[in-house]
Amino acid sequence: MTACIFCKIVSNELHAKIVYRDEQVTAFRDIHPLAPVHILIIPNRHILSVNELTPEDEPLIGHLFTVARQLVKQEGIDKSGYRLIVNTGAHGGQTVFHLHLHLIGGQRMRHPMG
Ligand code: 5GP
Ligand code: ZN
Repeated sequence: MTACIFCKIVSNELHAKIVYRDEQVTAFRDIHPLAPVHILIIPNRHILSVNELTPEDEPLIGHLFTVARQLVKQEGIDKSGYRLIVNTGAHGGQTVFHLHLHLIGGQRMRHPMG
């Protein structure tokens, strides 16, 4: 049993609008989208944050970006542009402690970063 909501999405215990899945990663639509396209791409394995990554995770992290690349094409926002964001810890605004890559696009981003 896990208390992690993203692990529950990976194991189908919790419903999500899944847009991509393979043996390493799952991608699903954010429940509170900040833009017309807001997808979370996560490793299927529970990793708390960037702080817990090791050199062995490099292929996995590369794969998250490859999946992001496929999804931006699929969503039709590759030309218009988008943001890929990984919030980490309190100052980063992380609220779910299972590593996730936000893919946000479909409109011009209104706020500067930081
Ligand atoms: P963070 O703030 O940790 O970078 O991002 C967590 C994201 O997860 C937020 O954008 C939030 O809306 C999303 N989220 C939280 N709970 C759920 C859920 O149960 N389902 C889905 N699809 N997204 C969630
Ligand atoms: Zn988890």
